[in-house]
Amino acid sequence: MTAGAGRVDVIVVGAGIVGLATARALLRERPGLDLVVLEREDVAAHQSGHNSGVIHSGLYYKPGSLKARLCTAGRAEMEEYCTAAGIPWERCGKVVVASLPEEVPALEALTERGRQNGLEIEVLSPAGLAEHEPHAVGLASVFVPATGVVDYRVVCGALADEIVELGGRILTGVAVESAIDTGRQVAVRSEVGLWWADRVVTCAGAWSDVLAAAGGEKPRARIIPFRGEYLELTPEASHLVKHLIYPVPDARFPFLGVHFTRGIDDHVHAGPNAVPALGRDAYSWARLRPVDTARFAARRSTWKLAATHWRTGVDEITRSLVPSRMVTALQRLVPEVRPEHLVRAGAGVRAQAIGPDGALLDDFEIVRRGRCVHVVNAPSPAATASLAIGAWIAREVEADDDATAIG
Ligand SMILES: Cc1cc2nc3c(=O)[nH]c(=O)nc-3n(C[C@H](O)[C@H](O)[C@H](O)COP(=O)(O)OP(=O)(O)OC[C@H]3O[C@@H](n4cnc5c(N)ncnc54)[C@H](O)[C@@H]3O)c2cc1C
Repeated sequence: MTAGAGRVDVIVVGAGIVGLATARALLRERPGLDLVVLEREDVAAHQSGHNSGVIHSGLYYKPGSLKARLCTAGRAEMEEYCTAAGIPWERCGKVVVASLPEEVPALEALTERGRQNGLEIEVLSPAGLAEHEPHAVGLASVFVPATGVVDYRVVCGALADEIVELGGRILTGVAVESAIDTGRQVAVRSEVGLWWADRVVTCAGAWSDVLAAAGGEKPRARIIPFRGEYLELTPEASHLVKHLIYPVPDARFPFLGVHFTRGIDDHVHAGPNAVPALGRDAYSWARLRPVDTARFAARRSTWKLAATHWRTGVDEITRSLVPSRMVTALQRLVPEVRPEHLVRAGAGVRAQAIGPDGALLDDFEIVRRGRCVHVVNAPSPAATASLAIGAWIAREVEADDDATAIG
């Protein structure tokens, strides 16, 4: 739905799960608030509608980090929300499997970290692993009961309905060009004209740095999109995976490694990998956005990232172009999986923030300056944590002091 511009209390840019959760939290806190969500495409058009659908437990994140705190709080809220809204979800638990000798101490460290984050984690014997996942193999493994699955696209639909019930508006097909804090109000330039708002929150996912820069910010973090491609187990092979089977992640990267996920729709996905995408919405190699690519190539941080991780990048690209390489990684977890058991099954594009030194930024990052709050980095598990992130941003929006940067 689109409509002309005007004057409102709050504008939220982006109808992904973070923008929607923020709008909902604001409307619940301040009934009668005149709030509009401006979305260039459609509800859940990008990351929020193209992900693994996992309700993450909080296993991986540095204790005390924003990710760890908001994931734990957000998971509980997400479960409650889905139950109350009648959205199908399941707390099925997941196994994490060490396949190589060097992964065993890493799994022990991960287990310790998860416990510091308050999780119950069961160390499995080979018989224990066989009970949870009869076709998985490994040198060591653990079971994390708190992990669950849901379809975040359905969650976004429910949030959008609730926003409208609470008196908010969601205008799709409206691209915001800039949001500039004039001191007394924020001028939001959009395709349908100029809006004025008391407060603006930008939750633009892969475009977060573009919008922040258009508003006069000099964002420290810049987005590099990484595509995550999925394969799917054919119906004949789907019995090989009961729930979720993960490898021990490589601690140098914020990605979790290719894994198996039985979704809430009962389909089993394998992946996602992590290949550099040639555009912020490049869902396949065939889609190239020359402007995006030129911007990424012009940044020194991109080249620093490439210089540090070129070998992993080449491996990932090879696995993308030659799916049998991805099968090899999957066979380490479930050896019975054969290439003929797997078909291509879509992709998502992660908005990965990198720092000026080319480092992959791990934690959530949210910046408030004056009347604007910018969500700079909201990677996984931001879908899990979305309701807690939204409530937290809503408090930031109300704050009166000058500036905060959290993350
Ligand atoms: C492959 C993959 C797997 C993942 N798996 C999981 C998982 O299992 N569990 C989990 O918790 N998290 C997962 N995540 C992460 C999670 O999906 C994201 O962290 C979350 O969806 C981010 O939500 P968002 O609202 O910030 O961004 P998005 O969903 O990307 O939404 C941003 C929105 O802003 C809009 N927009 C951008 N620019 C403008 C503009 N100028 N004007 C108007 N609108 C604009 C876009 O169209 C888009 O709709 C995964 C992500 C990926 C990519």
